[in-house]
Amino acid sequence: MRISEGLHSKEDLPNRCGVLVVGGGMSGLSTALELGERGARDVVVVDPGPFTGFEHRSRTPHTAPLPGPPPWWRSASPHYAELPGVTGPLGGRSRCWHGVLLPVGRRLLAEHWPHDTADRLLGDGPGSYRAVTGELLDWRHAFGETRPDRTPDDPRAELKAVWPDLSLRPVPQAGWSVDGPEGRLVWAYSPLMAWARRGLARHTGLALPTVVPGLRAIRVLVQEGRARGVLFADSAGGSREVRADVVVLAAGTLENTRLHAQALAAAGDVVTRWPGLNDHVTHGYAIPLPRALADRWARSDHRFLWSDHEDELNANLFMEVHAAGLAEPVLDLWWMAQQEGPFRDEIRFDPPDGAVPGGTAAWAGQVTASFSPADEEQIRRRDEITGKLLEALDVGVAEERGFDDFDPAARAALATGTAHHYVSRLGTADHEAGTVPLGQRLDFGGRSRSVGGLFVTGPAVFPAAGAANPSLTILALAAHTADAVSGG
Ligand SMILES: Cc1cc2nc3c(=O)[nH]c(=O)nc-3n(C[C@H](O)[C@H](O)[C@H](O)COP(=O)(O)OP(=O)(O)OC[C@H]3O[C@@H](n4cnc5c(N)ncnc54)[C@H](O)[C@@H]3O)c2cc1C
Repeated sequence: MRISEGLHSKEDLPNRCGVLVVGGGMSGLSTALELGERGARDVVVVDPGPFTGFEHRSRTPHTAPLPGPPPWWRSASPHYAELPGVTGPLGGRSRCWHGVLLPVGRRLLAEHWPHDTADRLLGDGPGSYRAVTGELLDWRHAFGETRPDRTPDDPRAELKAVWPDLSLRPVPQAGWSVDGPEGRLVWAYSPLMAWARRGLARHTGLALPTVVPGLRAIRVLVQEGRARGVLFADSAGGSREVRADVVVLAAGTLENTRLHAQALAAAGDVVTRWPGLNDHVTHGYAIPLPRALADRWARSDHRFLWSDHEDELNANLFMEVHAAGLAEPVLDLWWMAQQEGPFRDEIRFDPPDGAVPGGTAAWAGQVTASFSPADEEQIRRRDEITGKLLEALDVGVAEERGFDDFDPAARAALATGTAHHYVSRLGTADHEAGTVPLGQRLDFGGRSRSVGGLFVTGPAVFPAAGAANPSLTILALAAHTADAVSGG
């Protein structure tokens, strides 16, 4: 049954296709669209779904369980308490992200990324940061409305008086947020919007790839060292095989690692430990703000500001005013940083005893993650910097330390009238990356060096994540993967 243009129920899943994309989130749908633009007409995207609409959902995606319990567990407590990307509706986290568009720093790209990929990201053509940012900002202008109550306020002048070398810029966003009576609503680009004809300008008139929700990939079918298709499961306990010339894994870092590991094992290379897993370290202060200042600031173009400290601190500093849903306004002043290497975090698999290589069932995976002493040291160092800023602004700071998220810290700050510190757990930034890096197990565009016809895309392939939010790079790499798949 056709749900909408290009969108079908699982009964319509073909038995065979040219390119089979596993995962209909940020990376999978973008790669499918890029393939469509390159003339590929036999592309099918499959996701556990369900389909719950095209538009942005504002909140976290952890509401719809995958068909069948995910065979994952954690020895990472308190980190990765939820498994990012393993549950969600069709569209994945592209339906709830905040649209922040930041590139990975040049130094990091030069040191850790394959030169051809780095050169392309830093160039001007399709698949470059410049091109992707430009078209997402155009998309935002095409669909955005200017606020009638907009104010010209710019808090940076006051902040400069206490921190002269601070360079704060408005955060580039493929979307915007609106404060309403029920809290802050975020609206941002999702590649799924192309299927509702509200996507990027270049997708107008494109023959849309087929998308099928409701099926979860169990394993890649591998014969004679080549991917031949994928085995899927549905929530009713049924299974379906789809044959394909090319398989693209786009199921988020954790499931991509599992599916890739099982495909390698089926080709005779059993790898059970996948190091390099990393998420961003996020920590900051929730600071009560005077209502009048916050109201003006929140309606200005400077509500969400950013300062680049990638080179000296492996981190970006953000400032955002939150007023909606809180009794009083609060300033969120936070760092988002790269975990300090060498990463001790990893994904481990225990293939079932006696299983044929690759097995017929999904392998159980285990996530291990913790802050290293170097991470703790960097958190302290960055807190000292923000602490001095708070001192200069004459803001009292509560002594508490330890794991906490922004929301509880904001409520505590309002209750006591003092700034409250928070450190989020790994896994909660939803920026998990790095297990199947480009240039090592994967070639240009994410082509597997061990299994023919197999590609991996998404943040799993980042050789180093840096401090930047990942989606700009995910969207750019979708073009690289599409070129590699279509032989460009
Ligand atoms: C609240 C929130 C705010 C965010 N804000 C930002 C931001 O401002 N800027 C930024 O850069 N990033 C942001 N992110 C992170 C960003 O959304 C993710 O990094 C990005 O979506 C990851 O892309 P992906 O394709 O790897 O995963 P996803 O977008 O999660 O897509 C993965 C898809 O694979 C499917 N899947 C999982 N397992 C299987 C399987 N076995 N078989 C088939 N399909 C499977 C899932 O259902 C999902 O649809 C945010 C995330 C959240 C949650």
